[in-house]
This record gives sequence, C-alpha cells and structure tokens, in this order.
Amino acid sequence: MEDCLFCKIIKGEIPSTKVYEDESVYAFKDINPLAPVHILVVPKEHIGSAAEITAENSAVVSKIFEAAAKIAKDQGIAGDGFRIVTNCGENGCQSVHHLHFHILGGRKLGVEMG
Ligand code: 5GP
Ligand code: ZN
Repeated sequence: MEDCLFCKIIKGEIPSTKVYEDESVYAFKDINPLAPVHILVVPKEHIGSAAEITAENSAVVSKIFEAAAKIAKDQGIAGDGFRIVTNCGENGCQSVHHLHFHILGGRKLGVEMG
C-alpha cells in the first residue's frame, strides 16, 4: 500500500525502533508510549484492520501472537502480565489503517488502553 505509514516503516522508508522481525512479522516501539513497554506488532503484508482478516490471510495472525509472546519475554513483562489490543475502525479509534496489535506492559494497566 503506497500511502500506508506502517508499510513505509516495514520497508524502512520511515525510521522505527525495531524490537523483532521475521519473514512475515515486524514489531517496533510505539512513538507515543502509553505504558513503560508499548510495542506495535504488524504483519508485513498490508491488511487494513481486524475486519479484513480472512481464511486466506489469517495465518499471519498466529505468527503475530507467537512473536508477541517472544517479545513479552524479551522485554521482561511476560511474568507480571501485559495486554494485547487491536483497535478496529471508527468506533474502535483505529488511527493507522494497517492491522497492528499493541503490546502494553511494565505497570498495572487501567481500564483505558494504556
Ligand atoms: P491505533 O490508534 O491505530 O490503534 O494505533 C496507532 C499507533 O501508532 C498509535 O499508538 C501511535 O502512537 C502509533 N504511531 C503513529 N505514527 C507512528 C510512527 O510514525 N511511528 C511509530 N513508531 N508509531 C506511530
Ligand atoms: Zn500497510
């Protein structure tokens, strides 16, 4: 997707602080962290949101969750616990329209996302 911010980050056209990468998944620090650990995990393939997951593209979602478990261990938050969130569409307050999962942790989280 030409004008997609996260596609540009994945391609390295926009800098990011990478924390994990494999053939299908990329993960980087959120630019505006809402918790001591706030990482975004995205499929390298452009999928617009959780509403666009299908039988054809859903394999990457399990890869994302495998990566998230590794990232949580690497970041030292697996033991105390963390949150994984994906915002979808207008009512979900999604602001970047490339599927992404927020990993939030490092302190006790409240009812708001962070
Ligand atoms: P959403 O609101 O769509 O669920 O989450 C988008 C997230 O992307 C936000 O938490 C926001 O801080 C983050 N974000 C937006 N632009 C950039 C950027 O250029 N770099 C990084 N690392 N994160 C970004
Ligand atoms: Zn994209």
